[in-house]
Amino acid sequence: MGLHLPDAVRLHAREHAGSPALTCEGRTIGYGELDSRTNRLARALLTAAPTGSRIGHLTRTRCESGEILVAAGKAGLVAVPLNWRLAVPELVAVARDAGLRVLIAEPEFLPGALAVRESLPGLLLVVIGEPYDSDTPAYEAWLSAHLDEDPGRGGGADRDEVALQLYTSGTTGAPKGVPLTHGNLRPDAEELDEYRWDADSVALNALPMFHIAGAGWLGVALVSGAHSLMVPDFAPDTTVETMESRGVTHCFLVPSVLHMLTELPDVDRRDFSRLRLIAYGGSPITPALLRRSMAVFGCGFMGKYGMTEAAGAVTQLPPHEHRAEGPGRLRLKSAGRPRGGVEVMIADTATGNPVPPGTVGEIRIRSRHNTAGYWNRPAETAALYAADGWLCTGDGGYLDEDGYLFLTDRIKDMIITGGENVYPAEVESALAEHPAVAEVAVVGVPHDIWGEAVTAAVVPRRGIGRPTEQELIAFARERIASYKKPRRVLFVDELPRNANGKVLRHELLLRISAN
Ligand code: ATP
Ligand code: MG
Repeated sequence: MGLHLPDAVRLHAREHAGSPALTCEGRTIGYGELDSRTNRLARALLTAAPTGSRIGHLTRTRCESGEILVAAGKAGLVAVPLNWRLAVPELVAVARDAGLRVLIAEPEFLPGALAVRESLPGLLLVVIGEPYDSDTPAYEAWLSAHLDEDPGRGGGADRDEVALQLYTSGTTGAPKGVPLTHGNLRPDAEELDEYRWDADSVALNALPMFHIAGAGWLGVALVSGAHSLMVPDFAPDTTVETMESRGVTHCFLVPSVLHMLTELPDVDRRDFSRLRLIAYGGSPITPALLRRSMAVFGCGFMGKYGMTEAAGAVTQLPPHEHRAEGPGRLRLKSAGRPRGGVEVMIADTATGNPVPPGTVGEIRIRSRHNTAGYWNRPAETAALYAADGWLCTGDGGYLDEDGYLFLTDRIKDMIITGGENVYPAEVESALAEHPAVAEVAVVGVPHDIWGEAVTAAVVPRRGIGRPTEQELIAFARERIASYKKPRRVLFVDELPRNANGKVLRHELLLRISAN
């Protein structure tokens, strides 16, 4: 198929208008209804903002989030899903950076939305639910007041039009705006085939819309004509309940969510026979968690390494490489091979030249999915691209002889201790094998003699006796070289994480240093 989103919705509306597109909290919208509702929404948006404007939304993962994405595409507007976990001043900074013309918000997020309106004169605020004041229309009434007439952008002519602007996760600094065009976002037909979607596919959308994993997954499900179950308030027990009772066939889950789901006491007794595929990625997964997840869910697994700037996946590890008896080799520790249209090279960080297989360097990519550059950030954009159009990911890794990518860590996170390079992920994998370790993150703490000291923060598994620091250090030493073993192990109640469960190492380092 390989269509872009508004075209796909138009097509599904013509071919199977009655089949469900989005469900949230007991309400279902079919493809025909989605098509006409997004026509009205596109018309309404165009009365408030000219083509090319940025339209923000502060919505959890619900039907409206999908409608705004589709309507923006139909109207030639840019959807900007905002991170509702931000503090009000952070939110205002992002809204101003984007230069929003319209903001659609759930009542829950009104304090932030009103602060945004105050700081952006001329911005139209639309509220989902009851209107807040006479200047603030209610979403449903506003939509109904406009005609069911498709503004008609699409058909490929808008390939270079920006459709979506997402902000990076802010793991390494302030979040940066990443404009993505319809051409960047459009999945390939072969890529969609790998998911084996069919008319009865039910996709779980439990991730927030403001990171590429959630927004991209919703886009792929809608382009494929699947039924998306939107989960506004993720909780592990209700999520597995939904997966079982609604016969979910496809999910995208991040490692921290897989961890929560597989730790549920009754998860082994549930029936996941309808499940076909779980895509996972966004942050490192330990082989132990991956094996446990495969045993619990018993479906195909697809690993993904990606980033906002690349509109999602860069490399993928397909289901057959997760099975010992499949045609490929078992490569559970690999991030896989480039997805269609993506070239990957490993560069020497000093010279930028390619390094031989097996040698660690910076992962660089060339791809039609890559953004043209950050929004309003010329210096960061200049640093993002090296010569010949290679995008510098900032991630470290190596390719094996067969072209499979193995991730080490972000180049910035690499620990240099006593002159040796240590990748946190390697130490984390070793410690995660210990039965009493529920979660672990490793950072380099400044040290007078070693430069940096490998330091592990461990969340102990409940119900098992807590191991001692020395026991865990010895356990790591049996699996990795002595210079890589942690010099200190701290026991903590939880790790600082973002909405997608990504460990915020900055934050962790600050907490450790404050101790
Ligand atoms: P910022 O760019 O603001 O510092 P961020 O890089 O975390 O934040 P995202 O674009 O959401 O923002 O995340 C992309 C990054 O996530 C990648 O560069 C990589 O470091 C990490 N990542 C993505 N997928 C995986 C994976 N499968 N395994 C390990 N790390 C991953
Ligand atoms: Mg990044």
